[in-house]
Amino acid sequence: MQLYNDNEKLKKDIYWLTQECSLPPFSSSRLSKHAFLDFEKKFLKDIKFDDKSMLSVYEKLFELIGLKKPKWTSEISKENLPSIAITPNEGLNIVLEKTTSGAWRCVGAKGTKHCFSFDAGTQFCEIREERVKGVHNSAYEMFKSVALKQKKHIIYAATATLTINILALSTSFFSMQVYDRVIPTNGTSTLIALTVGVAIAIILEMILKISRSVILDEATASMDRSYSHNIFDRFLKIRSDALPNSIGTLSAQLQGYTSVRQFIATAALYFIIDFPFTLFFLSVIVMIGGFDMGLIPFIFLILSLITALFFKNKIEVLTEQSVAASNKKLGLLVENVENSVVVKASGAGYSMQNKWNALTEDAISDDISIRHYSELALYIAALLQQFSYISLVAWGAYLVSMTDQLTMGGLIAISILSSRVLAPIAALPNIFIQWGRAKISIKDLNNIYMLPQENEGISKPLAPEFIEPKYSLKDVKFAYGDSRQALNIPNLNIAAGEKVAILGMIGSGKSTMLKVLSGLYASQEGHVILGGIDIQHISRHKLSSIIGYLPQSTKLISGTIRDNLTLGLVGVSDSQILEACKKTGLNILINSAPKGLDTIIPEGGNSLSGGQKQLMAITRILIANPKIWLLDEPTANMDDFTENKIIRILNSQITKDQTLVLVTHKPALLGLVDRIIVLTPQGIVMDGPKKLVLEKLAENQKARRKPQTQPPVQTQTNVTKG
Ligand code: ADP
Ligand code: MG
Repeated sequence: MQLYNDNEKLKKDIYWLTQECSLPPFSSSRLSKHAFLDFEKKFLKDIKFDDKSMLSVYEKLFELIGLKKPKWTSEISKENLPSIAITPNEGLNIVLEKTTSGAWRCVGAKGTKHCFSFDAGTQFCEIREERVKGVHNSAYEMFKSVALKQKKHIIYAATATLTINILALSTSFFSMQVYDRVIPTNGTSTLIALTVGVAIAIILEMILKISRSVILDEATASMDRSYSHNIFDRFLKIRSDALPNSIGTLSAQLQGYTSVRQFIATAALYFIIDFPFTLFFLSVIVMIGGFDMGLIPFIFLILSLITALFFKNKIEVLTEQSVAASNKKLGLLVENVENSVVVKASGAGYSMQNKWNALTEDAISDDISIRHYSELALYIAALLQQFSYISLVAWGAYLVSMTDQLTMGGLIAISILSSRVLAPIAALPNIFIQWGRAKISIKDLNNIYMLPQENEGISKPLAPEFIEPKYSLKDVKFAYGDSRQALNIPNLNIAAGEKVAILGMIGSGKSTMLKVLSGLYASQEGHVILGGIDIQHISRHKLSSIIGYLPQSTKLISGTIRDNLTLGLVGVSDSQILEACKKTGLNILINSAPKGLDTIIPEGGNSLSGGQKQLMAITRILIANPKIWLLDEPTANMDDFTENKIIRILNSQITKDQTLVLVTHKPALLGLVDRIIVLTPQGIVMDGPKKLVLEKLAENQKARRKPQTQPPVQTQTNVTKG
């Protein structure tokens, strides 16, 4: 039986895999529209319908998106998950796991399905990423290893350049022959032959130059693809507590890889190819004119190099400063765009403008100095080149007229060649600027590479099929950077299925505790054990699938409402989404939006109110139906009516065996829990059954209120009078 019997079906599967599939690694190596069309044109047109050519299409695809070459088998085993399964007449599915009931959970273009066996003829292959996790310890190492992969392209380009430079000799030899042979002998036929020859050489030179730029474009594009993939991948894997706070500067630094790529593309060619050719041209000059004729351009070459190197440090330092200033500028810009309302409302516009102007001033003055020095370097190079030329012509003329060492034609050939000897020097200042940019980018990216990653130090994070939703915290301590301790929990157990509320004053570490429980933050000391396993050893993917975490301030991601509701979830049908929306009341918002679920949420996700955003986030968790619910003040921005509705839904939706940890200030929500923990930065001060803790809290409050009733009233009166 054939795997595919028509092209459209194959195309549909490939389209789903590369454009729509939200599972890693396909989600992170999604092809651009252009790349997909390119792939389609190259590999999906005029294809034969035998299985071998069908499977070879996948081989090409895997190579393109950085997966290991697929090994097709007719059996599937649990150890090889996730795998791809291609079933005759049905097409492609990704087999994710074997559930406890023994069924295979699969996801394909048509959604999720569970099956106990696969049809005869199904072909399987394991999905493995080629780029092994954590293989690069620094940004420098990553840049180097990707650039070295371009060896093939560099060799082709070098060969082309070699030929181009040899062909370039033809014009100078042509002039030499014309002056020495043709003119003295009136040899018209020699002239015709020489002219035709040199014309062909010039055309060949052009063709080679075009080919070289095509080869280099390909190398650059392939480096770009790998660099941008690696950088974003690394960024995504930084553990949340390690992420720097300055978003704008961080984004500018991440973007800096382009300047490294640019430097590699220009400089590699320069040093490998153009620079060595200076010596080649010098030796040709020596061959034609003798040692003394070669010495002149050689001396000027050394002088030019010395001047260029003299400017090197200045240009590099200034470039580094200018890049740092423009990164800071971007940081300020991002911050202001994000908080423009706060800035305006608090009248901080002027001070922001001053900061901005100061940074602009820095960047401008650095840029002017860079231009100044690089132009100066260029002018000096041009001056030296001209001196070299006239010295050569003068000494050459002496040799031609007074000795037999050099002919007239030889002198002309040498004067043409001499410009080639010094030409590469002119490119140096620009390369120094690029190097300055690349250097600071590598430095910044190295710092980003040093940040701890998810599952730091674990070579193969665990993803067990079943994790019991119970926590055990031992000596857990967490602090933000160098600031004082935000969380201190010597001992805490939360049983599977328990419903717990965490109370505490603002800044007592409640939100921090939820982040630690979700595994997003790693405690500096102690262990958070989830279902018997250290939470930092469990893969992020697995944690995200069993834990539903609702942060205190929810943000939406650009995309449609549907995208936001199914973020990270696999195989969710529209009816599931609509059912959840109906429960939470989000359907009112969706129905009133002109495009319903397809309504676009713009970048930054600010088109909804705080309460609506919270409602969206809760709806998403309802759809996900996780084993562990970590909710941080879920109804903080809601009216009483919506709040009560949410409480009712949570009450009915969270099952007996699911665990709930809830942070709240609202008494109404306490109906959802049986146990209350009262938190302070120093540690847990109360922990027990709801009723007991509430009574104790009421007692404490009464005791505290007595001596304190008088002063606040007085203050109040003062304020009113003033
Ligand atoms: P709660 O949710 O109980 O109000 P948090 O857990 O958010 O408190 O914060 C606990 C402490 O940690 C506070 O003192 C706060 O200032 C500090 N904190 C919170 N987030 C950060 C952060 N991103 N960087 C530095 N300090 C932080
Ligand atoms: Mg909080």
